[in-house]
Amino acid sequence: MNHCISGQSPSQGTTEARTESENAEVALQNIVEGFQRFRTEVFPQQKEFYRALASAQRPRAMFITCADSRIIPELITQSSPGDLFVTRNVGNVVPPYGQINGGVSTAIEYAVMALGVHHIIVCGHSDCGAMKAVMDPPSMESMPTVKAWLRHAEVARTVVEQNRCSCAGRDTLEVLTEENVVAQLDHLRTHPSVAARLASGQLFIHGWVYSIETAEIKAYDAEQGRFRPLDSEGSIPMATPRPRFHQR
Ligand SMILES: [Zn+2]
Repeated sequence: MNHCISGQSPSQGTTEARTESENAEVALQNIVEGFQRFRTEVFPQQKEFYRALASAQRPRAMFITCADSRIIPELITQSSPGDLFVTRNVGNVVPPYGQINGGVSTAIEYAVMALGVHHIIVCGHSDCGAMKAVMDPPSMESMPTVKAWLRHAEVARTVVEQNRCSCAGRDTLEVLTEENVVAQLDHLRTHPSVAARLASGQLFIHGWVYSIETAEIKAYDAEQGRFRPLDSEGSIPMATPRPRFHQR
């Protein structure tokens, strides 16, 4: 049985049906009704599956993405509960090690050390509000916490600004979104737990950008230094550096 989040079209209360913004009461009611449908209709059909999950998790990968409501990691990868260890924040940011002992760093260490994940995927997306804010710093003046958080993406803005000529003809937001993923992969590698397992070839890192409009994913190919479509043709683009040690 497939337990993944279904790909059914949006129904009552979801984006497509919501032409005008609903009031707070209706919004909450929709969420609670959704939970009740899950509990009475979905859950009973998959009881055994949830029972098996009840006491342990062994996720296939850690998935770090933006908090944007349009990005659902389990939906776009057709994953089931227990498959992905997900961490989300504004701008799919990974603070460099040692700067903030916050939720992202904690989740990375736990995923690598306690859960032993073999893959960490950093996934940006099209039309990202965080990336738009990075391009327009005054827009963050009334949001000091957002401004402070997104300083971890400043490196991407500088890279794009200083290399503008070589990305002529491409949408700046698109280039910035890709560069931000590359920057966060660099930050990811500063975490000792990640660095140690990358060096021994036990961990693989991936940088993706998902398009909301077309459902395409472009993945960073570190060897070629560019993003390539993640499709069924050819090899899967990899952002993992070459290992230097062999695990004994
Ligand atoms: Zn975003």
